[in-house]
Amino acid sequence: MSSEYIKCPECRNCLGLDFIGIQCPNPLCGFNFDGLQGFIDEGKDRLLEMAKERKFSVESTDYKLLGLALRYYMYDYLVDYVKCTWGAHYQTIYKQIIHRYLDDPEIVKKLLLSDVIKSKNIKESKSGCKIFWELYKSLYGVQSSEVKVFLVKEFPVFYRKLKIQKSFDSTRQRLLL
Ligand SMILES: [Zn+2]
Repeated sequence: MSSEYIKCPECRNCLGLDFIGIQCPNPLCGFNFDGLQGFIDEGKDRLLEMAKERKFSVESTDYKLLGLALRYYMYDYLVDYVKCTWGAHYQTIYKQIIHRYLDDPEIVKKLLLSDVIKSKNIKESKSGCKIFWELYKSLYGVQSSEVKVFLVKEFPVFYRKLKIQKSFDSTRQRLLL
């Protein structure tokens, strides 16, 4: 299930998929989405390889287009991450894609509302989102503050648990030094 919109990497506006191949309509922005379809057509497995290769410089347009293509398939990567039992593979998906590119709380919400989330120890939020502790910790570890804010609001008990664990870890580290 691919994304139904793209977010402009320059002005952060949400745009419909019909903007793929043309320019951002924001007159102050004008980011050109030309070439994005080519990246999307590579498919999610090849795009994962491209993310690993890191051949584009962070400032380049190709880097931004690759990021957009990775976000286009983000839901699928998240499902793979949750379902995959092969450690080397799901760790690569997390390290190369989810950690850096997951920045849309709506996609996280869609995942947590789906039946992909199965575990013996499920925590359900008031809005019906389901999560388990290990998944909470890894999703909270992404770079995006929007995703963190969503998780704090949705699962306040897990957030407190995380804070307690972190302060315990740092106290233990201080004592060991
Ligand atoms: Zn824009």
